[in-house]
Amino acid sequence: MAGLFAANLLHRSGWHVDVFERSKAALSGRGAGIVTHDGLLYALQAAGAQVDDALGVGIHKRLAISKAGDPFAYCDFEQVLTSWSRLLGYLKEALPDPHYHLDEEVVEVQPGTSEALARVTFASGESLTADLVVAADGLKSSLRRQLQVPFRQVYAGYVAWRAVCDLSVLSDNTRRLMGDTFLFSQLPGEQILAYPIAGPQRADQILVNMVWYRRTPEDQLRDLLTDEQGVWHSEGIPPHKIRHSHIDKMRTNAVALFHASWAEHLEKSDSIILQPIFDSEVETMATGRVAFIGDAAFVARPHVGQGVTKAAGDALCLAKTLRDAAMGDIPKALTAFSEARMQVGRMAVNHARQMGAPVVISPLLEDGSHWQAYYSDPENLIRDTAVELEGVVRKDEGILH
Ligand SMILES: Cc1cc2nc3c(=O)[nH]c(=O)nc-3n(C[C@H](O)[C@H](O)[C@H](O)COP(=O)(O)OP(=O)(O)OC[C@H]3O[C@@H](n4cnc5c(N)ncnc54)[C@H](O)[C@@H]3O)c2cc1C
Repeated sequence: MAGLFAANLLHRSGWHVDVFERSKAALSGRGAGIVTHDGLLYALQAAGAQVDDALGVGIHKRLAISKAGDPFAYCDFEQVLTSWSRLLGYLKEALPDPHYHLDEEVVEVQPGTSEALARVTFASGESLTADLVVAADGLKSSLRRQLQVPFRQVYAGYVAWRAVCDLSVLSDNTRRLMGDTFLFSQLPGEQILAYPIAGPQRADQILVNMVWYRRTPEDQLRDLLTDEQGVWHSEGIPPHKIRHSHIDKMRTNAVALFHASWAEHLEKSDSIILQPIFDSEVETMATGRVAFIGDAAFVARPHVGQGVTKAAGDALCLAKTLRDAAMGDIPKALTAFSEARMQVGRMAVNHARQMGAPVVISPLLEDGSHWQAYYSDPENLIRDTAVELEGVVRKDEGILH
C-alpha cells in the first residue's frame, strides 16, 4: 500500500517509477477493515486514484455497550469504512501496468550517496541502478535489516483477535447493533470493537470487522503462537495454524465477558486472525538514496487506525520533498523528509500507546495511570478511536495536481 502510494505520486511528478513486489500472485485482502479519514481521501486523489461511491460503508454513530446491552456512551460520528483490498485496487488501477512487477523479491540494496546511484539486486540475480529507492517492504522490512537501520520493536503486552463476519448471517438483534455503528465494549484488560466494512465480493456486500484486544503476558503469547505440531511462530501465526483449543477458549470467554452479540459474531466468523500488538519505531527514515515509508518505518497500534493513512502521508511528504529538491542532492532531500516524518511516526506510536493503556500500561508511556483512567472512560474511548490525527496527512503540502 505504501509503495503504491509513493509510486503513483512520484509517477505523476514525472519520475520513471517501478514497483517490485515479491509476491508471485496479485495481493488480496488481509481480513482488515480500514477506517478512512479526510487525509486519506486527499492522498488517494493526489495519487490519481479514481475513488467511486463503492469506496465503503458510511456510518453515523459510535456506541459503547455494557454486557446487558445498555449504552455506556454514544456520539454522532460520520465515517466511511472500507477494506484493504478495495483501497489497493484503486491504487493499482491508477498505476500503469508496465510499472508494476510481481514475483520480484529485492534481496540487496546498496544505498548510494550524493555522487553514486543506489543499486538494487533481485532474487533472480538481476540488478539495476536507481536515483531513489523507496523501501515500502512492511513491518518485517528486510531492507531495514540489511541496511542496519536502528529499529525498536516492543511487545505491548496484549494481542488482538480479529474476525470478519458477513452482516447478512447475523441475527436481527446483532445486525441492528453492528450494521451501521462503530460499536465498543471495555473491561479491565479487555477492549472490543466492531464496525461494518465494504465486502470484496459484491457492491452491496457488507462485512463486520471485529477487533478484540486482550491482555496476554509473554509466556501465554508464546503458547498462543504455537501450533498443534508444537512449532512456535514467533513472528506471527498463520490463521489456519492457530490451535482450535485457543479459538474455542476465546469464544467461551466472549460469552462470559460481553454482550451476546460479540459472541455471536465470533461464533459465525470462519476466519479468525491473531495479531500480537507491538510498538515499532525506526531511528531514521532515510539512508543514502533509500527512504523507508509505511510500516517499514513505524507501526502504531491499531487503536489509532492510521496504518494506511500514515503510509499515504509518508508518500505525500516524500513526493513533496523531492519535488522541492528537483533532481538536486537526493540523500539531502531524504534527510529532510526523514526529519519531517519521524515526528509524525513517533506521535502516532505514542498516541496509540495512550489508547492501549486500559488494556496494559506500557512502561514506555509517560503518565500511564492517567491515560489508563482517561481511556477507561468510554466517552473518551469512542471519541478518540481511529479518528483523523493532525499532521499524519499534510494537505497544505500542495501536492494535489
Ligand atoms: C491484520 C492487520 C490488520 C490491519 N488493520 C488495519 C486497519 O484497520 N487500518 C489501517 O489503517 N491499517 C491496518 N493495518 C495496517 C495496514 O495494512 C498497513 O499499515 C498498510 O498496509 C501499509 O503497509 P505497508 O504498505 O507499509 O506494508 P505492507 O502492507 O506490509 O506491504 C509491504 C509489501 O512489501 C512486500 N515485500 C516485502 N519484502 C519484500 C522484498 N524484499 N522485495 C519485494 N517486496 C517485498 C510484501 O510482499 C508486501 O506486499 C492492518 C495490518 C494487519 C496485519
